[in-house]
Amino acid sequence: MEIRVRFKDIDTGKRRCRMCGYIYDPEKGDQLRNISPGIPFEDLPDNWRCPVCKYQKWQFSIVLKEPLLEIEKELYL
Ligand SMILES: [Zn+2]
Repeated sequence: MEIRVRFKDIDTGKRRCRMCGYIYDPEKGDQLRNISPGIPFEDLPDNWRCPVCKYQKWQFSIVLKEPLLEIEKELYL
């Protein structure tokens, strides 16, 4: 259980297309489809597709922060 919470904490919000490697970054949005910066991946319209290869939303995977960076951050706190 503790591990699950931790993984949630280091979710970057980015989602990677499993087909072509395109990364949706919510801080940048998707200019090609008029998605403004700040829109979380989960709030994208259901008909949103990968701008590169047209894969559907559910075929994207979660991008997590590098665990090593997280450890470094904790040491400096
Ligand atoms: Zn793609």
